[in-house]
Amino acid sequence: MTSPVWHPFTQHGLNEPIPHVVRAEGATLHLADGSSLIDGISSWWVTTHGHCHPRIAAAIARQAGQLDQLIFAGYTHEPAEAVARGLVDLMPQVPGRDRLAHVFFSDSGSTAVEVALKMALGYWHNRALDGLDEARSRILVLEHSYHGDTIGAMSIGERGVYNAAWTPLLFDVGTIPFPHPDREQEALAALAAACAQQPAAFIVEPLILGAGGMLTYPPHMLRAMADICARHDVLFIADEVMTGWGRTGTLFACEQAGVAPDIMAVAKGITGGAIPLAATLATPRIFEAHRSTDRARLFYHSSSYTANAIACAAAAENLAIWREEDVRGRIDALVRGIADRLASLAGHPAFANPRQLGTIMAIDLLAADAGYLSDLAPRLRAFFLERGLLLRPLGNTIYLMPPYCIDAQQLDSVFAALVAAGDRFGMSS
Ligand SMILES: *Cc1c(COP(=O)(O)O)cnc(C)c1O
Repeated sequence: MTSPVWHPFTQHGLNEPIPHVVRAEGATLHLADGSSLIDGISSWWVTTHGHCHPRIAAAIARQAGQLDQLIFAGYTHEPAEAVARGLVDLMPQVPGRDRLAHVFFSDSGSTAVEVALKMALGYWHNRALDGLDEARSRILVLEHSYHGDTIGAMSIGERGVYNAAWTPLLFDVGTIPFPHPDREQEALAALAAACAQQPAAFIVEPLILGAGGMLTYPPHMLRAMADICARHDVLFIADEVMTGWGRTGTLFACEQAGVAPDIMAVAKGITGGAIPLAATLATPRIFEAHRSTDRARLFYHSSSYTANAIACAAAAENLAIWREEDVRGRIDALVRGIADRLASLAGHPAFANPRQLGTIMAIDLLAADAGYLSDLAPRLRAFFLERGLLLRPLGNTIYLMPPYCIDAQQLDSVFAALVAAGDRFGMSS
């Protein structure tokens, strides 16, 4: 019997196996046929502490029996209040910069990004109504970026085969060159020139571009870009949807650069990866530009499940875990564990460009046909699946982003599979 399910980012015509998972714990997925997989990418970058963390599962169960869902326009509940307070406490603080002090909830990273764009344009729109500024609407983005799959989020992301069908719907943006090591000054000059044209905002994935190929750039570049925006009064939006919650070694990537953005989007690990929730944080000036006795200026965005109480309870428990458990110690151990093993790949002739940022490791496989649409990615997926490993390479870039609870033995077997993939698919072999 064929399934009626239409899967995301899945070419059903290739008839790849679709494993049926029945249970998960820690870094392990258990399949219906009794076998198991190591989850090497945290089930698409969301699972932080491990699957089915007992504290988060219990918080969800408690909340589900008490208050499940509540209209969030004009109403509130303690789980949302607790998450908002907790988030504000955790935001990067930089002397002389306003704090992110206002929290707007939504349900996914894409939506959190859309909300960030709407806040930025709303800010300039409302200032223009007051005669304080010209209305600004242009968005600047970094080359190779990914910010989600809704229309606005696609508009500010890299254009390619994955959004070609919708080009007529996408709005125009200004693209700043990715700051490769030999092009740092070029990128900064391009940003300064673009900022001089008074755009509304510049949005970046801090320190690492995820779906764009796990491309890293150093903290001093993030800092320099934020400083240019501040000088030109261009709103600086940090998309920490992937980088947040310890992924890059610190709670948020912006911390490593001493950057306090005007707007920040968080999602993925906000509930520990158990249930969808997202938040967009803003500084007081963004909030105040919308606060008025005039109803025309309120922030017109909502979705049915905004700040769902069960999701907020999971997020509140995740925040408590960060406060009460040694999460940072576990992350440090994983960072060392990856660094120690990366050497086994770095010398392999089939691999190039090994890189690590915190708990994220990536390496490029030197294969004959390595384009995004080559059949390399499905063949690699199948190869890893046979070896009990869930990995999903981006073209010829193989990356790891495991839950923080993955143990040394599991890491060993992951790296053994990577070496075997190099032996099997590398151009030199
Ligand atoms: C995953 C991701 C998004 C989109 O988040 P969804 O929850 O999948 O909508 C946005 N920005 C970045 C940087 C991401 O990695």
